Amino acid sequence: MIEINNLSVSRDGARILHDVTLNVPPGRLAAIIGPNGAGKSTLLHCMAGLLPPDCGQVLVNSRNIHALSEARRALILSLLTQAQGTIPRLSVQDLVAFGRWPHHRGRPTATDRAITAKALARFDLDQLATRNVETLSGGQRQRAFVAMAYAQSTPWMFLDEPLAALDPKYVRDIMDRLRDMTGDKTGQRSIALVLHDLSVAARYADFCIAMKAGRIIAAGPWRDIVTSDLLSDLYDTPLRVAQLDGVPVVMGL
Ligand code: ADP
Ligand code: MG
Repeated sequence: MIEINNLSVSRDGARILHDVTLNVPPGRLAAIIGPNGAGKSTLLHCMAGLLPPDCGQVLVNSRNIHALSEARRALILSLLTQAQGTIPRLSVQDLVAFGRWPHHRGRPTATDRAITAKALARFDLDQLATRNVETLSGGQRQRAFVAMAYAQSTPWMFLDEPLAALDPKYVRDIMDRLRDMTGDKTGQRSIALVLHDLSVAARYADFCIAMKAGRIIAAGPWRDIVTSDLLSDLYDTPLRVAQLDGVPVVMGL
């Protein structure tokens, strides 16, 4: 469980998050949605312990995340940021293996190597394992970074818009795999991710957090959040949730 209590956060002197109180249940795929500038990335960074709050606190599995060392945090959560900044000059295999660093701190074991191999296979990267990350397409690179976060084997995974630059096949592949990791099945991961595509959120997320102007507008099971009225209000534009062959789709009107 993540418990966020009365959290306020500023950046460069400007208040970005206002009195956020929110519980994110474990074992779920929790989607954070909301318009550009709503504070989604700021919230995720603060949940990861990277931005100090002005007031309030974030408890991840009952631990105050801002009171932990970076080394301890890296065993509890992984964070894939929205822009990965400089692209590392590493092979895909070495990038994914880097996800194991918090566990071995420079001395990889057979277990670390086995988990790296599993992550490469799980994200369909075996064919690209020896390629330099710099030479990959945007979508291939994105998959490699998600695989690195997966290899970190943390109970919580935070992903900021992990589907940017992915074509539909890989959107489905990655979302299917992320969903398979949550719940009571293999691995038991809890995932919180920022999603831009509302139809993807409607289809895959089982918990949704709607944000606007630095506040939580609503949070709960996706059926309560992904409604035509709530989304139209959230985005200040007419949106409609429809069903297509039993699958929810969100359309602009
Ligand atoms: P989202 O991810 O929902 O698009 P962000 O969390 O990135 O939103 O940004 C929320 C608000 O905070 C925006 O108005 C943005 O301009 C502002 N902001 C983000 N980073 C900084 C920063 N380093 N300094 C000042 N303002 C920032
Ligand atoms: Mg963002």
